[in-house]
Amino acid sequence: MPKSSFIDFKAVKAAITMEQVLQYYGLLDQFKRSGDSLSGPCPIHKGSNPTQFRVSVSKNLWNCFSECKGGGNSLDFIAKMEDATIHAAALKAIDWFGLDAEAMRTNSKEADRQPDKSASNTGSKQKPDSKPAALAPEKDAPNKPLGFRLEKLNPAHPYLEERGLTPETIAEFGLGYCAKGMMAGRIAIPIHNPEGKVVAYAGRIPEEPAGDIAKYKLPQGFRKSLELFNIDRAIKESADVPLVIVEGFFDCIKLYQFGYRKVVALMGSTMSAAQEALIRTYTDGSSQVILMLDEDEAGRAGREDIPVRLAKFVFVKVHVFPEEGMQPDQLSPEELNNIVGGAA
Ligand SMILES: [Zn+2]
Repeated sequence: MPKSSFIDFKAVKAAITMEQVLQYYGLLDQFKRSGDSLSGPCPIHKGSNPTQFRVSVSKNLWNCFSECKGGGNSLDFIAKMEDATIHAAALKAIDWFGLDAEAMRTNSKEADRQPDKSASNTGSKQKPDSKPAALAPEKDAPNKPLGFRLEKLNPAHPYLEERGLTPETIAEFGLGYCAKGMMAGRIAIPIHNPEGKVVAYAGRIPEEPAGDIAKYKLPQGFRKSLELFNIDRAIKESADVPLVIVEGFFDCIKLYQFGYRKVVALMGSTMSAAQEALIRTYTDGSSQVILMLDEDEAGRAGREDIPVRLAKFVFVKVHVFPEEGMQPDQLSPEELNNIVGGAA
């Protein structure tokens, strides 16, 4: 593939939202949210009036009604803040947000020269959706595939080894420690839709979180209730093998590593209607499902509800762990094999 130095500004713009950029600069706290707009003091001319600078979240545009008397998109904002060209701003954005530099390149000079005439940008190698990733989706709208990939994830982070994962598993799932951007300081876990497209990255803190920091971070606007982690791989497995349903990413990844690849994670202890519909889509009346939730209060609550709903269209087996606090990723390959009936 010939390398080109032309940056596809449209792709970069689509991959980063004004919210992410404000967050990057540590400015988001100074902004007030009202419906679709964010308003605050203008960071460009360093004003103090809290309503002079406004951002339309859905349009991914900003405006300064005071000294700057103008506005633009997320790239224009970075260019103003850095006192740089659009080209330099795009390179910075690719670096800061860990965007896939190759996917942000184009063979077309047009894209580089005419960043705002995006309609004529037909030479673009990559055409991400025109809406930014963090835009809150319409009700019932699916999570859209991301227009970028997090790059330079470190697969050799000790946390992954501590979780008992092999380098092969880490590579298969595309896991790694993220040093920059949205998931900075976290282990990034790509989440795919059934077609195998990445729709989000989850970020796991690689230690026990202090205070009220959440263990997992998901992108704003992403709805995990619409996805089943690992569904894209699980549906490639034989129809005769039971589908195992677990709560967490690492439960799922660990079972996969043990050779039990027909496993999905709910990313929680509840099953949404959309997740139920997904399971229904990829099973039939003769399919078997094994529900293996964590042995704790939340897991037991899930066991009250989920099997009843699944039993309407598949055969359901519920696994109960013998001890409080146990979860699927603590199983040995032999224990797993006993539970899934030698299917692994
Ligand atoms: Zn201004």
